[in-house]
Amino acid sequence: MSVLTKLQLRLRRNLAILLLSVLAGTVSLGAFETPVATSNVKTADLSVHWQPTIFVNGSPIIFRVTSSQRLTSLSGKWLGHEVFFAADSNGKVWYGFAGASLETRPGKYALELNGMTSSNKEISFQRRITIGKGHYHSIVASVPKQYTEPNPEQLQKIAEDKTLKEHAFAQLTPEQEWAGSFRPPVKAQISDVFGTKRTFNGKVQSVHQGLDYAVPEGTPVAAVNAGTVLLSRSLFFEGNCVVLDHGQGLLTLYMHLSKIEVKEGEHVATGQTIGVSGGTGRATGPHLHVAVRWQGVYLNPATLLSLDLPGTPAVRLVGSGTRTGR
Ligand SMILES: [Zn+2]
Repeated sequence: MSVLTKLQLRLRRNLAILLLSVLAGTVSLGAFETPVATSNVKTADLSVHWQPTIFVNGSPIIFRVTSSQRLTSLSGKWLGHEVFFAADSNGKVWYGFAGASLETRPGKYALELNGMTSSNKEISFQRRITIGKGHYHSIVASVPKQYTEPNPEQLQKIAEDKTLKEHAFAQLTPEQEWAGSFRPPVKAQISDVFGTKRTFNGKVQSVHQGLDYAVPEGTPVAAVNAGTVLLSRSLFFEGNCVVLDHGQGLLTLYMHLSKIEVKEGEHVATGQTIGVSGGTGRATGPHLHVAVRWQGVYLNPATLLSLDLPGTPAVRLVGSGTRTGR
């Protein structure tokens, strides 16, 4: 394949993603959060650690809170969102997922924690965390105008999908369903990374809100972690699409599948095949687009996959149908 053909294919794919982002309304328009101006650390017997240690805009983050005393509850506030924590068996180590949108300005932000000890004493704690500046690419491209002008029938389907997605995404499961580290959905090369800014025809801008794997049609796609199937249906831009809810406000999305193999409401184990790759929806060639959403914010899937997380995953081995561990 010539370089030019490759470039053309890439531009076509980028175009598909642009349409997905712009017309499906998934371009994040989140407000800019303001860094905290003052430090107001209350003393409590808590310590906070997090991964990744170098944290940037667009990245997921997992907080680990350790307490010398047993806690019966712990909740957090972070960038205007609630952080849902789950404890280990003795209530002294708590984990909660969060993230920072691409639009978050670098700076120091406070994680506010409120807990209850087993002797019914309320405790609060604040930890300032630095958000650095992520390095994301930009591309400039030209595309035919027709791709940005869907017909009335298509516009209706797009509007229906939008309502459906808004309804699905409005649901929030505080309970942790994930267990152990997240695993790649396919073994394949990454063909496009998260956060790439695209300017089309000198004016239309979009940001790539997921991670693309270069897979041919027919490749089994695995759940990156345990969760419940929130959506499994055919959408205009996304094509055959599966959305998994991993709890704590964390979702993963799998798009352009040729076949879906799970039903809405079904529980899936880490590594379980949820569908087969393809090029459905507005994708001009087969590939897998995976996205990570935390409470309405798209986050870098590559960072999520790099985290070393606690817990033994309930793994469904491909082909065996058996589960081990929990
Ligand atoms: Zn993509």
